[in-house]
Amino acid sequence: MINSSTYNYLNSQETPFYYYDMELLEKSLISIKNEAALYNFQVHYAIKANANPRILSLIQSYGLGADCVSGNEIKRSIENGFPTNKIVFAGVGKSDKEIELALDTNIFCFNCESIPEIEVIEEIAKSKNKVANIALRINPNVNANTHHYITTGIAENKFGINPWEFEEIIGILKASKNLNLIGLHFHIGSQIVDLSVFKSLCIRINEIQDWFQSHQIIVEHINVGGGLGINYHQPDEEPIPDFKNYFAIFNEFLNLKANQKVHFELGRSVVCQCGSLISRVLYVKKGINTKFAILDAGMTELLRPALYQAFHKIENLSSNKALENYDVVGPICESSDCFGKAVSLPETKRNDLISIRSTGAYGEAMASEYNLRTIAKSFFSNDIK
Ligand SMILES: *Cc1c(COP(=O)(O)O)cnc(C)c1O
Repeated sequence: MINSSTYNYLNSQETPFYYYDMELLEKSLISIKNEAALYNFQVHYAIKANANPRILSLIQSYGLGADCVSGNEIKRSIENGFPTNKIVFAGVGKSDKEIELALDTNIFCFNCESIPEIEVIEEIAKSKNKVANIALRINPNVNANTHHYITTGIAENKFGINPWEFEEIIGILKASKNLNLIGLHFHIGSQIVDLSVFKSLCIRINEIQDWFQSHQIIVEHINVGGGLGINYHQPDEEPIPDFKNYFAIFNEFLNLKANQKVHFELGRSVVCQCGSLISRVLYVKKGINTKFAILDAGMTELLRPALYQAFHKIENLSSNKALENYDVVGPICESSDCFGKAVSLPETKRNDLISIRSTGAYGEAMASEYNLRTIAKSFFSNDIK
């Protein structure tokens, strides 16, 4: 929801661009900080959701750590003020160079996803005469009930270590002077709106912890990953996700051992609702039964609809005429470059300003230059006088 001075500001910029409501981001961060503090939980922001420097520096100022999935994300988070002792590094395919960078910058922990990866980290740490802190990313076999492309915690999945590999790993760790097991890590998927899924995750974590305890291993850190979903259909009704109940579930259902600390890796839920993709209608084209609103933004600025058939709310900021149906499409030479079919919009014409909502996460971060497009700029609410 925007007022007329914001509208005039947005309307004076060259489209398409990303627009961030920094007051909303700040409110979300305050909620995260307060709710997590009740239980002394440490939250790491998943950089991959949005790595815009302005966004990162605000997020780190609220005490969040960084969850990185590449060497460049580690560099970006350090550049924007995240302390290295609050950086965790996940990913199924860490290159030698990335492992070296992580060791050289003394990050908090590697979240390891396979036995061969653990062996390579050990080798590189040894060559540097260093000890790598590691957590095992465990595949807990909990179904996140979300889109299959963003489900990561079921058994046949490229992510994570399966329970039948635990014994072998314990052997490797016992034999190594350069690996220090400090945690167990879980991340079961994204856009999870059914909070009972997190209760199931807690119950699995408790069972897995019991297994490790029966093998005389109690780690200091339990990292439960991210995945809290947001309301794409009604962004204004639920601008801030329900962090209160989310954290309360982990507090209620996780059985912690003495002195264990719980970590989270939230991406989407932190930044999604603060971002909109603003574009302009180039043409309204009449088909046989359909009217197409052709925008100057496409899958190059927002890939999620083309990639996972994701829904985003679309608004016409310039019109309040009678509602009609439009297929809202982008200019890219791909049939999947479509933001929505039969979208109800007030009568729409060339040059109307269109807002595609909830694009703060996995929007700008997934931008591409396909079709030799120019990467869109970003604008921030706190720059509007
Ligand atoms: C992507 C990712 C996250 C963040 O997921 P969200 O759904 O955006 O909260 C957290 N941890 C890991 C390991 C990830 O890959």
